[in-house]
Amino acid sequence: MISKKIIGILLVVCLFTSLPVLTDLLRASCAGPAGTVQVGLLAGDSQSEQGKLILSVYEQLLKEEGFQYQVVSPGDLAGYGGAGLKERFEALLVPEFINSAMTPEVAGVINSYVRDYGGQVLLVFDPATNTSGGAQDQTPRLANLAGVRYFMPAPGEQASTYMGFWYFLSAAKGQEWGIPPGKLEKDNAVSSYSYGKLKFEHSWAVNDNAQVVAYDNEENFNNPVITEKYYDSGGAVVYVNMPLGKYKLRSDDLTPRSVLRTFLIRYAKIPRLVNSPGGKGGIVFNLHICSGAYFRALMVMMMQGLFQKDIPFSIHITAGPDTYKLGDGMGFFAESKYRGKPVLEVLRNYGEIGSHGGWVHNFFAYNLQYLPRQKAVKLINWNFNTLEAVTGKKIREYSAPGGNHPFWVNSRLEELGVNSYYYAGDSGAGPTHPYIDGKYAGQKMWAFPISPYQKFASFEEMERGRVSPGEVKQWLEDLVDFSAEERTIRMVYTHPSDTRFCLDAFRAFEEKALAEQKNDRVIVAPMSWFADFLNRNAQTRWQVKKQDGRNYVIDLENPEGLEDITVAVYVGEGQEYVVRGGNVKSVREEGWLYLTITSNRQKKHLEVCQV
Ligand SMILES: [Zn+2]
Repeated sequence: MISKKIIGILLVVCLFTSLPVLTDLLRASCAGPAGTVQVGLLAGDSQSEQGKLILSVYEQLLKEEGFQYQVVSPGDLAGYGGAGLKERFEALLVPEFINSAMTPEVAGVINSYVRDYGGQVLLVFDPATNTSGGAQDQTPRLANLAGVRYFMPAPGEQASTYMGFWYFLSAAKGQEWGIPPGKLEKDNAVSSYSYGKLKFEHSWAVNDNAQVVAYDNEENFNNPVITEKYYDSGGAVVYVNMPLGKYKLRSDDLTPRSVLRTFLIRYAKIPRLVNSPGGKGGIVFNLHICSGAYFRALMVMMMQGLFQKDIPFSIHITAGPDTYKLGDGMGFFAESKYRGKPVLEVLRNYGEIGSHGGWVHNFFAYNLQYLPRQKAVKLINWNFNTLEAVTGKKIREYSAPGGNHPFWVNSRLEELGVNSYYYAGDSGAGPTHPYIDGKYAGQKMWAFPISPYQKFASFEEMERGRVSPGEVKQWLEDLVDFSAEERTIRMVYTHPSDTRFCLDAFRAFEEKALAEQKNDRVIVAPMSWFADFLNRNAQTRWQVKKQDGRNYVIDLENPEGLEDITVAVYVGEGQEYVVRGGNVKSVREEGWLYLTITSNRQKKHLEVCQV
């Protein structure tokens, strides 16, 4: 037995010296037996095609957002009991559809996990709405726990679900839930590029004693869309009245991602591998030069200093001599020393040059689906080859003219060495691997969705739509702040322009981006640069263990090096912590500790200990 006095002396010595031996002693005390912090993903009936897809979507989102998780079967869950479940998982996700049938035992364990052991649960759409026998319960078994009776009988003869809006209580609430500026209408409904206010599938639900975060209403009803309910145990239940996975499968990544992130970060406080370089915000500014019609605008922008080396753009060009049809001579003509070549030679200094479709912008945009694939591939190749010949550099970024991007193009783009592309689906989300109608785009390239302002995407659309210049400026500033606060990457796109409206918008964006880049809050970089990081980040194998409910032991490994990779762990307010391990930059913000590795080692052991 070591006396208390000796421990006291040891502690004092540890605190006031930096001798390696003593540090090691203290390290040993911080790194006792510890439990892995991870998320449980409940997979009921995931054998059907739809079930498999839903489960894979949740897994993809958890991987992309850097959460450690494990799929749990209802059988295993029932065996763990509430206490065992809490030992293994800090949070439990109960996805829609695959958990609509649930036994009383499983529902009982989830109840106990929250009420008795402080577990955090996300219930999505329809859990436990069918008994195993198939008949629908009057009230779902988890409704009482959620404080919301969902899937209630519809008014009149209507179906059990309907299409309705998704309103937040306030704009601030929307942002707290990961909805970026521009994706909320003035009445705080979630909206989308070109559509306006979006409709989502909701069940008929009655709020009993939960707090409503988001809702849908009309004159004769008020339906909860997101609710939260807290328990004395520290447990919490969030219920989401939308089939989240289904939206990811239908080119709306933001809906499931924002909900999962918010639940796991703000409620469950799960550690994560932050999916942005240095754990900062990231902004891609994507400029599309579709034809020769933009020369004058480009000149004006250059003269006004709107191209700057500190904020490199993704500059995508349709390189052929024609635009509408072969021979019209209206293209950018990248090979011509009288047309595109001298301009391209200047632009290449201000960002990454990417390929914008297939050689003849409008012809390609409108005819892609009618062209034989070989012909389309030829046009894509010409565009790449020409830009590579003129710039002397590999082209690694792509954007589809008119957003016309069938996924069969991807295999050719991958062969050409592309790692990132502009994407018109999943609007408002960060870089991802998309689905269209349940079909997966593949894992090799990153799609960068457009961040829209309400139903407008580019500055010219906003000008035509009579959005006021002040609103655009505010939106751009808010978007930069959003990416910094959420530590996430977003992409804005537009065309060169010399109208007063657009020039002011460019300037507003650049001033804000430069300022926040200086403040170390965001990085402005081309999409291929972010994609390189995300690919490396995805190779990180890591584990966080928690000891005594407060200290963290973190191990990271990456064959390509760990520099700029960031782990976030929650330490709360007030308590002092020390970080052991070296070559790590730590930033503390709103109770979170962001630990960014500053050397390019392949392995790293970190400890975060309460002092
Ligand atoms: Zn274009």
